[in-house]
Amino acid sequence: MHNSIFDKLTKQGYLLMDGSTGSLLIAAGIEPAKVAAVNIEDPDKISNIYKKYIYAGCDIISSNTFGVSMEIEKTSGYTKQQLIKSGVDLLISAVNESESNVFTALDIGPFGGLLEPFGTTTYAQALEHYKQVISAASDKTDILLLETFADINDIKAALSAAKEVSDKPVFASMTFGKNKKTYMGVSFNDFADLIAETKPAAAGLNCSLTPEEMLPVITEFKDMTDIHIFAQPNMGNPIQKDGITVYQMDKKVFAEGVAQIYHSGVSIVGGCCGSDDECMRLIKEIIK
Ligand SMILES: [Zn+2]
Repeated sequence: MHNSIFDKLTKQGYLLMDGSTGSLLIAAGIEPAKVAAVNIEDPDKISNIYKKYIYAGCDIISSNTFGVSMEIEKTSGYTKQQLIKSGVDLLISAVNESESNVFTALDIGPFGGLLEPFGTTTYAQALEHYKQVISAASDKTDILLLETFADINDIKAALSAAKEVSDKPVFASMTFGKNKKTYMGVSFNDFADLIAETKPAAAGLNCSLTPEEMLPVITEFKDMTDIHIFAQPNMGNPIQKDGITVYQMDKKVFAEGVAQIYHSGVSIVGGCCGSDDECMRLIKEIIK
């Protein structure tokens, strides 16, 4: 499967990932802690999002499992396994139904707290959490997508867990600001060193930045590694509307910005917070 993803990249010249899921649900009034529970409580809503991304022409669609944190059982009432299995099963059904050549990704976010020395969670506890998350469904998806990480030891734990319990290709992504640091102070060098040491199939930057802001940052990052690079910028900067976080940017401007990232040599692109299927359709149109 590792090869067939990159075969498609070679043949097509690009791979289009999907846009956001969680931020769209949050903008529609779902509490952030309840996003993954929608897999069980309102499955059609999640299936529809998956299908929209499939019909928009995305090559890689990720499961609605980003929010499955260490404490998710307390906040959602469901186990990690229930939330992950339901999110992944809905994704696989949507892909099978469409009969399209789409790759599925198990979406894995940070565990949701702070590791020592910033917090009280130990590296071993984080490792155990990621092993549980990954083994709940990694046999079913084509890719493991680690995204929006800010602490280098956190993503290191997730990468180690992936290696221990799965042989699927890993796409690993951290979220950097315009200053080329994560909000935890991790630098490009730190991330590039970890990539060289752990060798995921692809490494990326996601969230925090708009396409225009991400372009110079990812251009510099690209030169620091020799593996496939991917970019998933946000659709503008968030604003608060009636107490809810929403992202507003002209979809065409967003898509043109992502296409520019593609033209700078980043051949795997998609969107993060606020982006939807229409954004992905526009990106594909411009790139083609
Ligand atoms: Zn985001």
